[in-house]
Amino acid sequence: MPITVAAYDRIGEENAFAVLARATQLAAEGRDIINLGIGQPDFKTPEHIVEAAVKALRDGHHGYTPANGILPAREAVVRRTLTTTGIEVSPDNVMIMPGGKPTMYAAITMFGEPGAEILYPDPGFPIYRSMIEFTGATPVPVPIREENGFAFSAEETLSLITPKTRLIILNSPANPTGGVTPKAEIDALVAGLARYPDVAILSDEIYDVMTYDGETHTSLLQYPELRDRLIVLNGWSKTWAMTGWRLGWSIWPDLLIDKVRKLAVNCWSCVNAPSQFAGIAAIDGPQDAVARMMEAFDRRRHIVVERMNALPNVSCATPKGAFYAYPNISATGWKAKKLASALLEEAGVALIGGPDFGVLGEGYIRLSFANSAENIERAIERIGEFLAQRD
Ligand code: PLP
Repeated sequence: MPITVAAYDRIGEENAFAVLARATQLAAEGRDIINLGIGQPDFKTPEHIVEAAVKALRDGHHGYTPANGILPAREAVVRRTLTTTGIEVSPDNVMIMPGGKPTMYAAITMFGEPGAEILYPDPGFPIYRSMIEFTGATPVPVPIREENGFAFSAEETLSLITPKTRLIILNSPANPTGGVTPKAEIDALVAGLARYPDVAILSDEIYDVMTYDGETHTSLLQYPELRDRLIVLNGWSKTWAMTGWRLGWSIWPDLLIDKVRKLAVNCWSCVNAPSQFAGIAAIDGPQDAVARMMEAFDRRRHIVVERMNALPNVSCATPKGAFYAYPNISATGWKAKKLASALLEEAGVALIGGPDFGVLGEGYIRLSFANSAENIERAIERIGEFLAQRD
């Protein structure tokens, strides 16, 4: 009998990595490829953050750290959380993680098992569903609708809870839609959740400060009644352009913090020490580079929305957060993944088809602003020419 790996056979993919690989390959073959597929800022990590990591290495921080992270890094997270949410958490509830994804893994494997149901946003970050399936739990998609401004609907979310529901995953500001769920909707969701005290919540707030037009993010931490069943995912990857450092944090209830610390001991021991020192510098240092990056994203956002809406049969809602636009292409007659693939192969524009983010993704494509305004304009010109030729 051949060997079998049932759980691992259920693991999915993040197609953005495959698109990036193909785009890189085409570029290496000499093709002019414009990449709007990638979910990482096209900025370098600010210099003072890099310097802090170099200094940590020079100062001899080469060994293991505590599995939950060095205390100064956890205290920096406490300061940052107070600034962004007005809520003071204890450093004892903070976990320094190797990126944002490991918090997803930890939270989903804690609650996921055969027979359990886990609610997650659709369209949403593809790893949620992949990890739910890995655990053998049943993934229950919560529809995220354009007509609802790509926000969560409290009513619809609550209506999907059953006696088997163990965990609800929320994400605002959202990937891939750029939607931001208004406070009133979150208030309604939290009020409804009082009826289900045995359901845990994973709130993915990695884009928390990446909002536009004065839009504000509401953290689930602002609801004390949820605190003993709430896990908040956050990290350095997006805000400080640190995707390759593998550095994130999460805030856990008293009941779970030691369990996730033990997971770290078992799986990765700790996050590499210099990254943790860099993380402190990111939080405590000047934020002008972050502000400049957000100004650039905002300018590009306007370009994407204006130019995409000018294309026949395309309509593009204005994203309120993150750095993605999620235009509706259903009126073009194209299947989204087919269009994404044809645009890459034939027009040299890399972007992601909506179905890579869930079953409700058909009819949409995701464009990331992680490219210069000039390249974004050129890319949309190419998309327009391509659609016109194939009309
Ligand atoms: N959560 C969301 C919604 C994301 O879009 C991403 C990355 O694209 C992550 C988490 C993962 O972040 P990290 O690269 O820190 O693991």
